[in-house]
Amino acid sequence: MVAAQNVITDRKSVLSMAITVTVSAQKPPAPHGYISISRKKLLQNLEISAGARLNAWVDSMRASSPTHIKSTPSLAYDQGSWNLQHPSALEMFEQIIDASKGKQIVMFLDYDGTLSPIVEDPDRAFMSKKMRKTVRKVAKCFPTAIVSGRCRDKVYKFVKLAELYYAGSHGMDIKAPEKRSNSNRDSEPVRFQPASEFLPMIDEVYKQLVDTTKSTPGAKVENNKFCVSVHFRCVEEKKWSELAQQVRSVLKEYPKLRLTQGRKVLEIRPTIKWDKGKALEFLLESLGYANCNDFFPVYIGDDRTDEDAFKILRDRGQGFGILVSKFPRKQVHHILYKNPMR
Ligand SMILES: [Mg+2]
Repeated sequence: MVAAQNVITDRKSVLSMAITVTVSAQKPPAPHGYISISRKKLLQNLEISAGARLNAWVDSMRASSPTHIKSTPSLAYDQGSWNLQHPSALEMFEQIIDASKGKQIVMFLDYDGTLSPIVEDPDRAFMSKKMRKTVRKVAKCFPTAIVSGRCRDKVYKFVKLAELYYAGSHGMDIKAPEKRSNSNRDSEPVRFQPASEFLPMIDEVYKQLVDTTKSTPGAKVENNKFCVSVHFRCVEEKKWSELAQQVRSVLKEYPKLRLTQGRKVLEIRPTIKWDKGKALEFLLESLGYANCNDFFPVYIGDDRTDEDAFKILRDRGQGFGILVSKFPRKQVHHILYKNPMR
């Protein structure tokens, strides 16, 4: 089965180390037997260290949001060999169908960059009528969920299909369709919001980020209810470092929030162990597939946050993850490559 192949296990994301640098305001006495270092020198060292971290952060922004193949040195490797390791989903369509025979296909679809193009204004990331028609057809055949970093209400307004499951805010806001064709009428409606206690903090951080980033032309902060997105689709690349610094200055006051990166977006969300992969597992369980093998999940996404779902499929040895990308990605966990739906 192809799903077992082609796994790149580079988990050393530079992001996880990027955020907090604290310097004590008072100089503590040097204990006997220890070498004292001047505060000036210490600060110089910390500045160099913080600067290196900031550079690593900006490099990571470039890697998440490649504008062309050679936009970062890490991507400038042999695209041919990458394509061999990550074959086109369209070219492998027959093998995918063969692998799913006798099993219930369950579809999971990211929204931005997967069903809709990445456009300059994230509020205008509309999906085409043709795409909506395709998704409607898919949902008639298979249970289908939209899994997005956006606020659930907003992604619903884009997709406008009541028959789907929706997992907004990176899976932190899950809702089943009102009328589930295969559900028990007496069963509780599926609603799940594992990060509700963070709502006030997210609101606060949203306001601070709006205020702090307003001096960076093109930066746009979006409140996604359980997480916040800082879009840099319209920020000149030479300003990315400045934006990263601004976001970091806000986040260092919030150790209970973490930062991840996507295509032209910085995502701020609670540190709870919940992501698109967990949402996928929750939805499979809600659909009654927790302890059986006769289902075949397919997850289609374009971003780093989708890798959490790809990883779950790989670890479970079930189904397929399909990456939507024009460019090689060094940190992708899973397999298939190229845009199957645009
Ligand atoms: Mg996406």
